Amino acid sequence: MKDTLAHEASVSKTALMINLGCPKNEVDAEEMLGVLAERGYTICADEDGADVVVVNTCGFIQSAKEEAIEAVLRAVERKRAGRYGRVIVTGCLSQRYGFDLAKELPEVDAFLGAGQMGCIADVADHVLNGEGLIFQVQPQAHHRWLTHVNRVRAGAPWSAYLKISEGCDHTCTFCAIPVMRGRHQSKPLARVIEEARRLCEEGAREINLIAQDSTQYGLDIYQRVMLPELLRRLSEIEEVRWLRLFYCYPSRLTDEVIEAIAGLPKVCAYIDMPLQHSDDELLRRMRRAGNAESYRKLIEKLRTAIPDVALRTTFIVGFPGESIAQFQRLIDFINEIRFDHVGVFEYSAEEGTFAANLANTVSAHEKRQRRNELMKLQQGISLKKNQEWMGRTLTVLIEGCGGPPYLRSAKGNSWRRGRTFRDAPEVDGLTFVRNCDAEPGEMVLVKITGATAYDLIGEPDRRQVKD
Ligand code: SF4
Repeated sequence: MKDTLAHEASVSKTALMINLGCPKNEVDAEEMLGVLAERGYTICADEDGADVVVVNTCGFIQSAKEEAIEAVLRAVERKRAGRYGRVIVTGCLSQRYGFDLAKELPEVDAFLGAGQMGCIADVADHVLNGEGLIFQVQPQAHHRWLTHVNRVRAGAPWSAYLKISEGCDHTCTFCAIPVMRGRHQSKPLARVIEEARRLCEEGAREINLIAQDSTQYGLDIYQRVMLPELLRRLSEIEEVRWLRLFYCYPSRLTDEVIEAIAGLPKVCAYIDMPLQHSDDELLRRMRRAGNAESYRKLIEKLRTAIPDVALRTTFIVGFPGESIAQFQRLIDFINEIRFDHVGVFEYSAEEGTFAANLANTVSAHEKRQRRNELMKLQQGISLKKNQEWMGRTLTVLIEGCGGPPYLRSAKGNSWRRGRTFRDAPEVDGLTFVRNCDAEPGEMVLVKITGATAYDLIGEPDRRQVKD
């Protein structure tokens, strides 16, 4: 296969993307596919026969690293078997462990560090020319925004992630992301707007703004936080119906940011704000800004300023030294605040982080138990919160056909599934709509008639479609 793969301009080359990890990686993968397509590569989805296979890896926590290594090994095996041409490894794992992986896996043709989407086509051309190992990983992760964007969308056209910044300036003691993604770097405002317009031209109606810390947007390039301005400018795009904000750092949710969210109708009353814990001592050792009291005040402020706001957060259980009493304080906090959505991670020691050297670790068994306990607690809270919506009418973005799998009567093609402003794609629940014939991507008014811990059930409210 090697000889036949030599790069010839006249021969159509195929590229396959295997993407792992978070929405930020998804955006990177789509950008790389765009760069490859512009260079003339045909993007394929077939498992076999691609000339170039890009494995875009995640290295967030231990389980993600294992999954990424497995994917790279699988690609290498396929290459050995003649089913793939060349293998390029990109993303966080490559940034962090590329040097070691290159020694262990000589069959990989190229390693690219995080944030180097722009050179993927050059690298692909070089590896097809059989120019030997290409190792393009900077010691310090450094993101480079593409001069223009031609993303090849992989997901549903009506809902798109838009990365507004990359990297992180915080120093949370458990987190390796700043090492893998570098310091915080904002995407210039004009570029974000251009990208949003382009996504809308391709059918996007829901724009999900992502970053490591979206509340720091603008500080590095404009010397002030520009998130309110960005939200205003994005709201002016006619086709945009929903703007959804992810990864807000609690101490940076300033009055100005809250006012912008509250005052702009297209910005969903939905805030994703990882808190990680609620015990003051643990938060201090995690090196997080804030404490239980400041979180209480912030949440009260959010709920006053933004009626019906849906709050999503994540917590870490089993951080070194987390005592039973500290864990109990977290349980009490969750019971008191009643978040709409909670994600729980079991702490994993990440090489190179401060916390990895801390003693007094919590056993794997105990971490699993604590996680299960929180998830069960949240299920009960989510059920009650969902039930509070019964009888009310909400706008639902329809995403597909089918009723709830647990309802035996929900057969046939008169059911649709979608999401309300309260539910983000992939991580939150769904709304199932009976007697509905709307097409995916349409927004319809739905009267809520039922609720489970994760989902809402309803029927079309035959009034006008609402923004
Ligand atoms: S704010 Fe988030 S990305 Fe940044 S260091 Fe802390 S946990 Fe990691």
